[in-house]
Amino acid sequence: MTELDVRRKRLLYEMGVTVWRSPPSSAGTGQAWARLEREVTRCEACELHQGRTQAVPGSGDRQARLLIVGEAPGKTEDARGEPFVGRSGQLLDAMLAAIGLDRTHDVFITNVAKCHPPGDRDPRRGEVQACQGWLEAQIRLLAPVCILAVGKVSAETLTGTRDGLGTLRGQWMAWGEATIPLRVTYHPAYLLRYPGEKAAAWEDLLAVKRALQGAVA
Ligand code: URA
Repeated sequence: MTELDVRRKRLLYEMGVTVWRSPPSSAGTGQAWARLEREVTRCEACELHQGRTQAVPGSGDRQARLLIVGEAPGKTEDARGEPFVGRSGQLLDAMLAAIGLDRTHDVFITNVAKCHPPGDRDPRRGEVQACQGWLEAQIRLLAPVCILAVGKVSAETLTGTRDGLGTLRGQWMAWGEATIPLRVTYHPAYLLRYPGEKAAAWEDLLAVKRALQGAVA
């Protein structure tokens, strides 16, 4: 058992989760990542592919312990091919820096939808469903210590509920059969509009930081 497995087991035990299945042993291989990203960039499973400059599979450390999942690429991300590089991304970077992380080291960032929705609207339910397999494959490959869902679309997709952020924030949940610890927080774009919510987001980040240090509380 790797050090990562031991830490995850301890986190799950503290959460009261006693059933645990290891991720596939091929997790994190470069070849599997390359294949997945190639397929994402060619995906035409929903109409969003028609308006994209390019698909945005995700970026960061492919052995990261933290996975951050946003909603969908914006205009800047569509042009650059990288998630969270616009104004929201700058705030996300600052949030990560506040807990001693940066996007290239120990963090992998992706979105629920890999293509830019026209007019920056939220991805529609069918579009999210069409893209869900890619996100699930990424989670299985990465097998992170924990997942941070930013924003309503991401939170509802990863929890499989329609409960909204007000209900879902402030608690540990678990993703999938692998029961990966999952936390949700406000989207940086929302925090830019409502800076008064930054204190709540800070609490969420501290919870994530504690989880990465080996404690869920
Ligand atoms: N908003 C998101 O949810 N994702 C991005 O990549 C950029 C903005």
